[in-house]
Amino acid sequence: MKFQVDMEALSPLALAKDRSTLNYQGCQDYIPGASFRGGLAGWYLQEGGGEDPLFKELFLSGRCRFGPFYPVNRGTNSEPIPLTARTCKTFPGFKRHDEAHGVKDLLLPLLAVKKDVYGDNEKLDYCPRCARPPLMPVGGFMEKAADDQWDKVSLKKLVITRTAINDLTGTVDEGQLYSFFALAEGQRFSGEVEIDDQWAGAAEELFAEQEIKLRVGRGKTRGLGVLRITGVTLKAGEDSPVGLKVEGFNRALGRYVGGEEDGLYFSITLKSDTILRDLFFRPLAGIDGEELAKILGIKGSIQLEHSSLNTSLVQGWNYLQGLPREDCLAINKGSVFLYKTRDVDREELLEKLAVLERTGVGLRREEGFGKLSVCDSFHWESEQW
Ligand SMILES: [Zn+2]
Repeated sequence: MKFQVDMEALSPLALAKDRSTLNYQGCQDYIPGASFRGGLAGWYLQEGGGEDPLFKELFLSGRCRFGPFYPVNRGTNSEPIPLTARTCKTFPGFKRHDEAHGVKDLLLPLLAVKKDVYGDNEKLDYCPRCARPPLMPVGGFMEKAADDQWDKVSLKKLVITRTAINDLTGTVDEGQLYSFFALAEGQRFSGEVEIDDQWAGAAEELFAEQEIKLRVGRGKTRGLGVLRITGVTLKAGEDSPVGLKVEGFNRALGRYVGGEEDGLYFSITLKSDTILRDLFFRPLAGIDGEELAKILGIKGSIQLEHSSLNTSLVQGWNYLQGLPREDCLAINKGSVFLYKTRDVDREELLEKLAVLERTGVGLRREEGFGKLSVCDSFHWESEQW
């Protein structure tokens, strides 16, 4: 069962991106699943729940999936803007704003360029509204506004400066200042918690019980990182529209590259950071066709036609042990892969892709890693210019 969990920051949130000890530190733009899980577990114990069977199921079994929880402004949920999205450098932004020149997705045009069928008059790197080059990446998160058009989520950050404490004297260490970024209070977040069906009733009762306030990130003892859960909604089981999305994607692609294609194309867009390892447990910095065929468990040729991706190191602490967690290489949310298949059983492929979209991929899925979308409509349905 999936629950949508909405939250509001009651004080600034300083969720560190890494374990760096620089005296000027950045912060996450969202609440990672592990941070939420830790905060909720802390609240549960504080409220006297103890390590009962529900606690064990929620926090220790590894069967429940938490988050990630992305920022929202007016919408009910948001998602990372794909790395293939571009906007005008002079008048950036989604077209629902009068002054903005819109956001365009380049996945299908890039394929057309690769196949040498992209029209001369439509220069790929030029804004079609003002004809100025170059376009620039968008980044961040997007949400659907009330008029059903995409809009970028705006985030307010602050810098908090503190004095260091001398270990020996326990007093202020003169001349030792450090600063860190934090997300401002009042910011709202939304994400999913997935719980095994047989525990969903108990979890529903728990969420309905009372006002839940949890603490995440640094400075918890000094008033930072307070989150209030403002709503928990049970999400109805939805049929996966993967078949329809793949069909729509290929129709749109046909319009771009012209004529019938000799194979079936599909894209994978990462909705959260994804940690993948190969058979020998070596980290993967991408998903090529061969790897994907292995993940899906299908025979036949899958070929990677294009990828737009970033990677980063996921670092963290195990607070229980007071030790750093193992660093993991992650392929970042928003990364996009385009594949072409040949000699693959279409029905089987669609079935396996639907399972992949439902279950996600890779390690630490219980912390919200490895979420993805097959043939995401942003690449082929939305006209944002
Ligand atoms: Zn422009």
